[in-house]
Amino acid sequence: MSLPDMHSAEPIPAAARQEIDRLLTSGDLFRYTAPEGSPVSLLEAEFAELMGSKFALAVSSCSAALFLSLKALDLPRDARVMIPGFTFAAVPSSILHADCLPVLCEVDDNYRVNIDDFVEKLPSVQAVIISHMRGHTSDMDAIMTLCSAASIPVIEDAAHSLGTLWNGRKIGTIGTIGCFSFQSYKMINAGEGGIMITDDADLVARAIIMSGAYEHNWKKHPVLQDAFAKHQNQWPLYNLRMSNLSAAVIRPQLPHLAQRVKDGRYNHDHVAALLDQSPHIDVPSPLHGEVRAPDSIQFNLIDMSDTQVDSFVAAAADAGIKVQVFGASTDNARAFWNWQFIPDLPELPKTRAMLMRACDVRLPVHLPTGTLDAVAEALLSAVDTATTPMKAYGT
Ligand SMILES: *Cc1c(COP(=O)(O)O)cnc(C)c1O
Repeated sequence: MSLPDMHSAEPIPAAARQEIDRLLTSGDLFRYTAPEGSPVSLLEAEFAELMGSKFALAVSSCSAALFLSLKALDLPRDARVMIPGFTFAAVPSSILHADCLPVLCEVDDNYRVNIDDFVEKLPSVQAVIISHMRGHTSDMDAIMTLCSAASIPVIEDAAHSLGTLWNGRKIGTIGTIGCFSFQSYKMINAGEGGIMITDDADLVARAIIMSGAYEHNWKKHPVLQDAFAKHQNQWPLYNLRMSNLSAAVIRPQLPHLAQRVKDGRYNHDHVAALLDQSPHIDVPSPLHGEVRAPDSIQFNLIDMSDTQVDSFVAAAADAGIKVQVFGASTDNARAFWNWQFIPDLPELPKTRAMLMRACDVRLPVHLPTGTLDAVAEALLSAVDTATTPMKAYGT
């Protein structure tokens, strides 16, 4: 059976077309032109309501949201900000962009923050960004308890966690600020885009101004207006706004989120159960209290040499499935040793060992069960090829 393009996206709901047509006809693409009710403002209101947050600010990307979050926290220059050693290169980059310094924390075999290393490094940092990498939630109870006791603000990088629950709470609403992405490989696809949510009026007021609400454009945001007045002319304008066109693409997808999350979890768990039967594959379980919203699957190869790992990747590619071993694929942006733009890049032995065996396969939420079975079968047979001496790939 031939496999579909695993990077294919779902069509944008037809409702977007009418709105985009209206915007193209009127030329009203800038979020602050209309006196009220612009698509970006409506998106902010709808997203805040969906998440149960007081405030939302839509911006150009999740990376921009992370950058603005750090700026809005008003950290001093060279403040140290802890992040997991397993995340996307844009995350430490947003910290450098905000004139702060990334501090990398070890990550366990289950892709989640190693709490012992977190405890050890916490006293040396002034803020924390928790990337729930590939939607794997770190232990937010432990992290929030530790950070609250130390009065350290927590930003949740929930770029890939829209729809994930932690003990019934929505991921992105647990820390001081939550940041999400609408880039094409996330649950809601606008090509590019991001949004941040918080319950802190003063913080969001600063972020709104810095995102580019120049002069009195902040009056078009439903935040307590006295939160803004004192900030007038006090903050740089970084112009990271979202366009009305992006908001028009995003808004009609919001009602589909719950179904996508359900389908994504079904797909993931279906493939996970099949793969877990192999003695050479371990799919880490969710943490207790975590209900995931995956659109891809990660698993670790067990008892396999580097050569066997390479053979597995090659055999899977032959079957039409692109598997990335995070640490083995050249210049992977999720392997910390490739973040050579960080001064004094540290070594993280646990995270490195995990990355050398952790595999990444996309599972778009719209794949039918038959295709999921074919994907699992192809991966299992690639393991077979790689681990059976007689069948070793290339011999
Ligand atoms: C995609 C992603 C980002 C970056 O999001 P952009 O919107 O592309 O800037 C950051 N962190 C994580 C965990 C991601 O998955």
